[in-house]
Formats: sequence, structure tokens, C-alpha cells
Amino acid sequence: MCVSLPTHSLSLSLSINILVLFFSFLCSFPILPCTLLKLTSPLICTMSAYKDQDPRLHGIKTKIRVVPNFPKSGIMFQDITTLLLDPKAFKDTIDLFVERYKGKNISVVAGIEARGFIFGPPIALAIGAKFVPLRKPKKLPGKVISQEYILEYGRDCIEMHVGAVEPGERALVVDDLIATGGTLCAAMDLLERVGAEVVECACVIELPELKGRERLNGKPLYVLVEYMEI
Ligand code: AMP
Repeated sequence: MCVSLPTHSLSLSLSINILVLFFSFLCSFPILPCTLLKLTSPLICTMSAYKDQDPRLHGIKTKIRVVPNFPKSGIMFQDITTLLLDPKAFKDTIDLFVERYKGKNISVVAGIEARGFIFGPPIALAIGAKFVPLRKPKKLPGKVISQEYILEYGRDCIEMHVGAVEPGERALVVDDLIATGGTLCAAMDLLERVGAEVVECACVIELPELKGRERLNGKPLYVLVEYMEI
């Protein structure tokens, strides 16, 4: 059955439709820049807290000092010691990770020497996980398993105590920075070799131009800030 509406109700419904369209158009503005970014730059659309625009992230980013040509010519060294000098920025950094990993049933936080030892332990304590140090060769006194890898500047190896992580444990790998991804790959290999499940890797800084994320074989990586050289 077809019901014919009087002319004034038709014009009222038309005006309501126009208003709805107008407001949807206005509301779409804040997401336009993000959508454009997503279309134009796949690098900027990785899993990073920076995209969420949490107000704490700007403070964190401004506290990281960039030292050109350290330790070698051509390296833009991301110095997190300046971040540690600011209790609010340091706490915000830890809080952001804790908010992400609390309640995720993670029993191991594995921190990579040396700067993963700064961020890993407070995260582990806050989420109720144990902390396992992944160390440079010949530093751990007990029986170890080792994994070699290639760095942005050189070659290296990390080791973990045998028995520190049990098969089936859920692990989070923490470091200050991902460059080429070799270090995180080696850390994941160590944990997986003893039967752990790596849930995610977490870093304060990513150098997206070095494409380290692509070396992680699809393993999720969460970063707070990105540093582009250009
Ligand atoms: P990669 O294995 O290439 O991802 O390198 C990551 C490791 O090397 C991390 O443990 C960082 O601390 C260190 N690293 C590499 N490049 C830099 C850099 N430009 N600034 C500070 N640390 C770096």
C-alpha cells in the first residue's frame, strides 16, 4: 500500500535530510587528514601510538635528543637519556606501554641490553610479569642460548639464560628503538627457540625509513614515536 504524504511533510523531511547530510559532511572533516595520510603514506600508517595523538606523545618526542654522527658518521643517534631526565615524560612512556599490555596475560617481559633494561622492568612490574634480560655475550653467568644478528652499525649477538623462560609463556619484547629490525628479530628467535609465544614487540622509537618492521615476519610492533630523517 502506498501512502501519499502532504506537501508540507515532504518539505519537512527534505529539510531534515539536508541537515543530516550537512552535519555528516562537517563531522567527516577531522578524519579527512588521517584518511589522506593513510592513502598517501603506508609508512605513516603502521601500529604506532603517535597516530592516536595521545597528548603525552608530543612531550615524549620533544625529550628525545638526536645526536648526529654518533657513534659513527651518518648515524642520527636517538638519545633517550634526555627523556629519562624528565620524570613526567619518562612516566608517560611507561604508562602508555602499561595501558596497552595490562590484562593481556603476558608473563615475560624480555628487555634487550642496554636500553631495553630501562623500559622493560617498570613495564614488567606494572603488568605482573617477570623481567628477563637479553644480554650481550659473556655477561650472563649461567648456561645461555645465543643468537647472532646484524646491526645498523655492525654485528652483534644476544644471549638469554636457559630456563629463564618456559615453553608456552607469553612474551613481550622491549627495546628503546627499532632501526633495521635485526635486534628484535634475534630476540624473538631466542624466545621462540625455547618455546615462548612472542605477543608483540614494543619500542619507544621507530626509524621507519630503515623498514625494520618488515623484517619482523608479521609480528606486531608497537612504537610511541617515529623519527624521519627528512
Ligand atoms: P636494529 O637491530 O638495526 O633495529 O637496531 C636497534 C638497536 O640498535 C637498538 O637496541 C638501539 O638501541 C640501537 N640503535 C640502532 N640505531 C640507533 C640509532 N639511530 N639511535 C639510537 N640507537 C640505535
